[in-house]
Amino acid sequence: MDFALTEEQRMIQDTARRLAEKEIKPVAAALDAEIRFPDEICRRMAELGLLGGTVSPEYDGSGMDYVSYALALMEISKACASCGCILATHNSLFCYPVSAFGTEEQKKKYLAPAARGEKIGCFGLTEPGAGSDAGGVRTKAVEDGDSWILNGGKIFITNGMAASLCCLAALTEPDQGARGISSFIVDLDNTPGFSRRPMENKLGIKASGTAELIFEDARIPKENLLGVRGNGLRQMLTTLDGGRIGIASQAVGVGKAIIEEAIEYAQTREQFGGPIAKFQAIQFKLADMATQMDAAELLILRAAWRADNGLSYEKEAAMAKMYGSDVAMHAAVEGIQILGGYGYFNEYPMERHLRDIKITQIYEGTNEIQRLVIARNLLKKK
Ligand SMILES: Cc1cc2nc3c(=O)[nH]c(=O)nc-3n(C[C@H](O)[C@H](O)[C@H](O)COP(=O)(O)OP(=O)(O)OC[C@H]3O[C@@H](n4cnc5c(N)ncnc54)[C@H](O)[C@@H]3O)c2cc1C
Repeated sequence: MDFALTEEQRMIQDTARRLAEKEIKPVAAALDAEIRFPDEICRRMAELGLLGGTVSPEYDGSGMDYVSYALALMEISKACASCGCILATHNSLFCYPVSAFGTEEQKKKYLAPAARGEKIGCFGLTEPGAGSDAGGVRTKAVEDGDSWILNGGKIFITNGMAASLCCLAALTEPDQGARGISSFIVDLDNTPGFSRRPMENKLGIKASGTAELIFEDARIPKENLLGVRGNGLRQMLTTLDGGRIGIASQAVGVGKAIIEEAIEYAQTREQFGGPIAKFQAIQFKLADMATQMDAAELLILRAAWRADNGLSYEKEAAMAKMYGSDVAMHAAVEGIQILGGYGYFNEYPMERHLRDIKITQIYEGTNEIQRLVIARNLLKKK
């Protein structure tokens, strides 16, 4: 067994780290306070090949492996959770399904500009009545000559305010329930009948452009069906398996920031005649946080390695997402505790970390759903 990164993996990690430390971290608090989508940072991530991270060079992507992608995502998320979320959604939830299920024509037309970072992608699955139970999708797609006519709406869509492209789930056979769901590529900039509304009053990841997507007799070309008609839910769930490596990386990235900042504070804040780091109560917190975050990172790298080597990774990705987000949430609570009253104010980033990290226990399948996925895999008949 070899724990060392390859030269290429280290190079991608360093590139992401430099961008994160020099250009993203200094603006993270302002992006959060102003609820501002970071167009400029997206442009920089595009220039460095991160927006087309795992996409094949054939379609203008960087062709990086999943381990590199996870390492880069941890670095970006460490500086700004919103930026990590934007990057992960674009890569894992738009570029991946088009790469995996798209036709050659769709890849040239939609994947390549997304991989170049000229167009931002989003993923439209969730609806008011379809959350954990994704099979409850009610948005309809009806054939009409050379088009599909979409009617319905999606909520909570990350990147939704900035995206030009969307991978969307809609019912093509309403009488067949979950088996009647298909997926589509929607060109959001050129679809009459489409509109969007911001959903900004949220706890954290405030710069991630969350939106409601509305389709009222929205007409898209017939050839924008993605993959096999009726296989949409399966395709979306497969997409989310990979996406969970991304969520876990976001969580651990923020978790690493929390630990670094808690250590620095504990070594400089003095009470009872010395730094609070001399108290065992503080040391034990730091030891637990660091051990749990390392374990979570190893779970991520295992899942990513399996994906890179063509092995199944549904269970491993769910474990990494569930454990990584749970321990990062715990670290955020302990981080505030270490900073005491100062942690409660936005003078320090710790309160933002606490607000930002909560979502990683919820999106791309809540942690209750991850436990169901893990248990289903454990109990599977051989
Ligand atoms: C900020 C944000 C960004 C998001 N981005 C996107 C996006 O880009 N695209 C997209 O499609 N969606 C997105 N989502 C939606 C997200 O994936 C859903 O919110 C999530 O899957 C949970 O669905 P729900 O909110 O409807 O909760 P519900 O499904 O109503 O769950 C409520 C509670 O019940 C529990 N529960 C439900 N079913 C079970 C069960 N069978 N067993 C045990 N417990 C259960 C849940 O774990 C949870 O605790 C986003 C959400 C947020 C908040």
